[in-house]
Amino acid sequence: MIARIPLPIEEGKTMALLMGQMMQMPLLISSLITHAARHHGDTEIVSKRVEGDVHRCTWVDVELRARKLAQALARLGCEAGDRVGTLAWNGYRHLEIYYASSGSGLVCHTVNPRLFPEQIAWIVNDAEDRVLCFDLTFLPLVEKLAAQLPTVRHFVAMTDRAHMPAQTSVPNLLCFEELVEAENGDYRWPSFDENTASSICYTSGTTGNPKGAVYSHRSSLLHAMAAALPDGMALAARDTVLPVVPMFHVNAWGLPYASALTGCRVVFPGPHLDGKSLYELFEAERVSFSAGVPTVWLGLLTYVKQNGLKFSTFKRTVIGGSACPPAMLKTLEDDYGVEVIHAWGMTEMSPLGTLARLKSKHDALPKEAQRHLQEKQGKVVFGVDMAIVGDDGGMQPWDGKSSGDLLVRGPWVIDRYFKQTASPLHDGWFPTGDVATIDADGYMQITDRSKDVIKSGGEWISSIELENIAMAHPGVHEAAVVAAFHPKWDERPLLVVVPKPGVELTRAQLLAHYEGRIAKWQIPDDVVFVAEIPHTATGKIQKMRLREQLKDHKLPTT
Ligand code: ADP
Repeated sequence: MIARIPLPIEEGKTMALLMGQMMQMPLLISSLITHAARHHGDTEIVSKRVEGDVHRCTWVDVELRARKLAQALARLGCEAGDRVGTLAWNGYRHLEIYYASSGSGLVCHTVNPRLFPEQIAWIVNDAEDRVLCFDLTFLPLVEKLAAQLPTVRHFVAMTDRAHMPAQTSVPNLLCFEELVEAENGDYRWPSFDENTASSICYTSGTTGNPKGAVYSHRSSLLHAMAAALPDGMALAARDTVLPVVPMFHVNAWGLPYASALTGCRVVFPGPHLDGKSLYELFEAERVSFSAGVPTVWLGLLTYVKQNGLKFSTFKRTVIGGSACPPAMLKTLEDDYGVEVIHAWGMTEMSPLGTLARLKSKHDALPKEAQRHLQEKQGKVVFGVDMAIVGDDGGMQPWDGKSSGDLLVRGPWVIDRYFKQTASPLHDGWFPTGDVATIDADGYMQITDRSKDVIKSGGEWISSIELENIAMAHPGVHEAAVVAAFHPKWDERPLLVVVPKPGVELTRAQLLAHYEGRIAKWQIPDDVVFVAEIPHTATGKIQKMRLREQLKDHKLPTT
C-alpha cells in the first residue's frame, strides 16, 4: 500500500511512502491475560486474604474468572467506557477486576482507601463510578459514604456468601463470588481501538485537589513492556513477585500488567503490610522480587534487624515514590544481599520514568562511586524523554550540576487531566513539579519538588540531601527537612526527627553529624524531635502538613 504525505520542505508537494505490511493488532490489556493463561497457565497467584487465610490460584483461573466477571458486569448494565471503582488491597479478586473491566472496554478506577472519606467521595463522584467493588475492610467506610455517591448503581463486596455482612446499610449489596459463579465464562475478549481508556488513577493530592490520569490500553501495554525490560524491573517468568506497592497506587507501578506479560508468579500481601507479616510471606512463598515506597522497607528492615533475620530468596527490589535514603540502599545491599533499583515516576507517567541501573562502563568504578549513581533516580526507560529547564525556560546542560524544572514526554505520559480542558503541557512537555540535575550519562537526580525547595538567601538547598544525611545517623528512625521562616535568609532548613525507639538524641549531635558532609551554610538551623512524621495516603512525607505544624517555630537567632 502506498500512502501520500505532505512533504515537510516544499509546500504543495507530497511524498509517497511504502507502508509496512504487518498485521494490525491493537495493543489491548486482554492480550496480557490471555498470554499469561495460555503460556504460564499453571503459574500460581497467591493472596493473603482479608478473610484471614491464604488463597492459591493460577493465571488460568484468573483469566477464566475475569471473563465471568466481565459477563457479570455487563449483566449489571455496565456499558463501554463506564468506570468500575475499587477500594481494595492487593489480591487476586482485585486482579480479576483489573482484567475484567479493562478487557471488556470498561475503565478500572482504583481508589486509594487511605485518603480522607471526603476525598474518596469526591474522587468517586468525579470519575462517576458506575460500580464500586470493595474489600470487607472498607465496609464501614462504604456504609458511611454510600448515600453521597449518586453515580454508583451497584456496590459489590469482594468476598463469598459465607463472609457477607449479615446486616448493612449499603443499598442492595452484591456478593463478588456470587456474581462470578453465576456466569459460564463463555465470553470472548472484544477487540477495539488501542487508544481506548483502560484505567484511571487520581494523583494523591499532596498538591491540591486530586486530578485523574486516564491511561489507555496502548499506554498501559507499552509501559508494561518497558517496565519488564532488563534495565527496568528485569522481570522474568522465573520470578516470584510481591507487589507491596498497592494496586490503588498508580496500578501498583504496572506490576499487575508486567507480571502477566512475563508470566511471573505473584504473591499478594492483602492488608498485611507490617514488617513481620511481610517478612514471613517473603520467606514462606520464596519471593524473589518486590517493589514499594521507602516507608514500607523501613518497617520491614526494622523487623529483620531486631530479630537477627536474613532473606533466603529475596534478590531485587524497586524502591520509589519518594527518594530512597542512601542508608537504606546500603543496608539492603550490604547486610541483606538485596539489589536495590531506585526508580522515579509519577501518576501522570503511568508511573515509570527512570530507574537507576548501572552501565557496563561503571563496573570498573569503586563501590562508593557506583553507589552514588544508584542513589540517583536514574536513566529513562525507552519511551520516556526528559529535559531540565532553568527559570528562563532555557534547556539546562546535562552536566550533573545544573539543576532545573524536570519536563517529560512520551506515549505513557498524560496529555491532559480527566475532565479538564486546560492543557497541563508546556510546548509539548509535561512539567513534573520536580527539580533535578542530569549528568552526561543521562542519570537524573531529583534535588527537590519545586514547592519543597528551601531558598536560603536566593540559593537553593536540597531538602532530600539533608534528609538522606540525617537518615544515615544510627539513632534516626525517620527524618524530614522543611523550610522555616528566617528574617535574614527568608528560608532556612529545619530538621524534623523521629528517633529510634529507646535512643536519646540531642540537637547538637545531629547538627554535628552534618559537619564535613555538606557545605556549612546548608546545615539545618535547628532540630525538632517528634514522635511521628505525617505521611500521605501513599506513604510519602506530607511536607505541606509538616510545614503547617511547624509554622510558628522560631529558629535560634545565633
Ligand atoms: P503525588 O504527586 O500525587 O504525590 P505520585 O505518586 O504521582 O503522587 O508522586 C510523584 C512524585 O513523587 C514525583 O513527582 C516526585 O516528586 C516524587 N517521587 C517519586 N519517586 C521518587 C524518587 N525515587 N525520588 C524522589 N522523589 C520521587
